Order: sequence, then C-alpha cells, then structure tokens
Amino acid sequence: MDKECLECGMMNAIPVFDITNWNKNDRCLKCDAVLILQSDGSTHTCDIAHGNETVEEALEKLHQHLNTAINNYTRRLRLIVGGGLIKDEVQGLLHFYQQQHYIVSYSVDSRNPGVINVIIRQ
Ligand SMILES: [Zn+2]
Repeated sequence: MDKECLECGMMNAIPVFDITNWNKNDRCLKCDAVLILQSDGSTHTCDIAHGNETVEEALEKLHQHLNTAINNYTRRLRLIVGGGLIKDEVQGLLHFYQQQHYIVSYSVDSRNPGVINVIIRQ
C-alpha cells in the first residue's frame, strides 16, 4: 500500500495492517516519521448495531472499521452500538485491544450511552 507521509509528503510503500498486527517499524524514507502513528485528526462514525446484526456480524463490522482506521489516518471512531449484547461484547473486545495497545483507549460517550468512542491514535 502506498502511504503519503503527512510530515513531508513522501510516498512510502508499507504493508496493509490488521488492527491486531501492526507495528511502528515502518518509517518515512525521507523524514523518518513513524507512518502508522500519523493522524489527520479525523473522526469516523459507524453504526454496527442497527441493521439487525448478530453479535458476530457486529464484531466483524467492528474489525473492518478498525482496520480501515488503522490503515488510514483516522484518529477516532465513533461507534454506534446501541444498548444490548453488542455493546457489552464490543466493550469486552476493546478492553482487550486497549490492554494490547492495538488502540489508545475507548469510552462510552458521556452524552449518549449507545455510542462508544475509540481513540485509534493520538
Ligand atoms: Zn516523511
């Protein structure tokens, strides 16, 4: 995958990563910035619970959104999870991902308990 360095504009070829398997070894050839940690400050909102998804389907969607985010420059995911079993399972998985440092952190939105905010990178 070609990734443009946000620091200097150099195009770099780096692998497509999975959220559970990325590393900080890929640096910009020109300015040495760590490409995977670069962020454009953006937030992406995605609903993974209101299309009659099963828990399994919702977790698969979560995985896809996390992969898209880590391979782009997304800073934050705003996950609409509703209030049921999907929310519980998503929180359990994100807790594990945070412990593993795959993501920075996550929290239930202070104003909407059906939303979980995930910080992908600083
Ligand atoms: Zn660079």
